[in-house]
Amino acid sequence: MPAAKITIIEDEEDIRQLVRYNLEKEGYLVSSHESGEVGLSSIKSDPPDLVLLDLMLPGIDGMEVCRRLKKDAATRDIPVIILSAKGEEADIVAGLEQGADDYLSKPFSPKILLARIHTILRRVTQPLPGENDVIQVDELLIEPRKFSASISGKMLELTAGDYRLLHFLASHRGWVYTRYQIVDAIRGEGYVVTERAIDVQVAGLRKKLGEYGHYIQTVRGVGYRFKDT
Ligand code: CA
Repeated sequence: MPAAKITIIEDEEDIRQLVRYNLEKEGYLVSSHESGEVGLSSIKSDPPDLVLLDLMLPGIDGMEVCRRLKKDAATRDIPVIILSAKGEEADIVAGLEQGADDYLSKPFSPKILLARIHTILRRVTQPLPGENDVIQVDELLIEPRKFSASISGKMLELTAGDYRLLHFLASHRGWVYTRYQIVDAIRGEGYVVTERAIDVQVAGLRKKLGEYGHYIQTVRGVGYRFKDT
């Protein structure tokens, strides 16, 4: 398999070099840029497999870079990991809703960065479960055709909302979603939930999941994700 190409857009030289060093050590091909403008044109002329994108950039900022990448059919499918400073949760939420795939808060360890990259690149090659595919996580079984879930053969008593929430998160293991994205994804005929109600619903679902409750992880200030393998 040819080495994956990764583009970094980050104006802080120390971080850019540190990331570059660690990625190259892992065998990735790296293209690094300090401004959004230059990074964008590089991505357009030579599309990478993944983009690491700092949010606070001089000139056009990371959010705008993300918006432009996701608007363009040629670059829309390239996964984007946002690099954000501490305390920028609102920006992380906005970035995810703009189509970014994940985020890392600075300072981050090279080990975590590499793990995230690995997870996201794996997603690209492993298709998501189909709408009607059974999802199994250890003893937890989610059966879309029956609209039900069970643990070790014991049926869970889920409301339609619980089921939709569980199925949505479990079919995107490891993906972080904002409350808004969850509301948008699980809204269905006769079933509407608000962003504020999501927290209550998650708490209720966790309780019903018992020992599997911790698989639904809270991403502080951002949203939720289903624990990855
Ligand atoms: Ca910056």
